[in-house]
Amino acid sequence: MYFLTQDSIRQGLAKAQQQETSLNLGDRTAYVGASDIGQCTRKAILSKTSPRAPSLQDLIRFARGHLAEEILASALQDVRPERQVELSADIPYCWACHWWDFYTPAEPAHCPNCGNPIHLVPIKAHCDFVFDDDLVLECKSSPLVGIQDSWEMQLQTQMLLYEHCLQKSSQGVILVMDLAGGALQITDPYVLDPNKVGDIIRRAITIWKGVVEASSAPDPESLDLKTEPGPLCGWCEYLGTCPAFKGEELPDDLVTFFEQYQHLCRAEKAAKAEKDTLRDQVLAMLEPGKYVAGDLRISLFNRSRTTTDIKALGSLLEELGQDITEFQNTSPYQVLDVKSA
Ligand code: SF4
Ligand SMILES: [Zn+2]
Repeated sequence: MYFLTQDSIRQGLAKAQQQETSLNLGDRTAYVGASDIGQCTRKAILSKTSPRAPSLQDLIRFARGHLAEEILASALQDVRPERQVELSADIPYCWACHWWDFYTPAEPAHCPNCGNPIHLVPIKAHCDFVFDDDLVLECKSSPLVGIQDSWEMQLQTQMLLYEHCLQKSSQGVILVMDLAGGALQITDPYVLDPNKVGDIIRRAITIWKGVVEASSAPDPESLDLKTEPGPLCGWCEYLGTCPAFKGEELPDDLVTFFEQYQHLCRAEKAAKAEKDTLRDQVLAMLEPGKYVAGDLRISLFNRSRTTTDIKALGSLLEELGQDITEFQNTSPYQVLDVKSA
């Protein structure tokens, strides 16, 4: 049983994941990937220049993503889409005057603007699935709230590179497979948004410049890199040194207090997930009615809820020359957010 320790499992998973990454994604430090463009700039730069050994939790999360792709691949075995399609390009960029052109037919050696040498910023996308009708599918394995924008940016980058490399346009969808809950969500198809192209290119250039700067810095984590705090910060390996989360040092007794608070938050989350699973099982077993289970008296009934379509209401008010904010009140409330670095 000596091999069944948390650490041996972590090491085994890390090795398997490293092999798979280098097979499918190559050397991720040598280019800016579509997922880098979708995520926090500081994290994207540091993950290339100051890599940390992933935690067991991270590794299980990565493996879960891989599992979702395998499940989907088996569901699509009759359609046989291409998998892990690599698309790559270089952006000619001038470090002196910040000129760039993604669509130049021949890569210039010198900047047409200022005459300084041109540098090439390498960008790559790995599309999870590509179908015969030019549909690109990005598969995700957890319905994390609030990161749709980041996923969309990743998909837009894939569609941009698809158009650039294959000279044809594509559509893209994001499929979210919740492995724990067994639920599946598929977005409506997206097309490449021309207004996002400049953003994508500028983000890629910023990340690449950061990578070049951080590669020669003695302590990359102390550099003043652009931070973009969001829901994924709780999973970020660079949270401990992140300037976005700098604050006043608390005394030791408060440290214990917050550790306990954090512990209870986790327990609450786990209990909620367990409670929701039990509730789904009960709802699948019973019809509405009244039931007795030992000392428990149970009623299961349908209730209706009324919702207001705020977007439609906003449009209607706009037609009437009014703004919905005139009918809204804002009141302050406190938010306590605790993350573990
Ligand atoms: S903690 Fe958040 S803002 Fe800071 S580097 Fe990580 S992802 Fe970016
Ligand atoms: Zn220039």
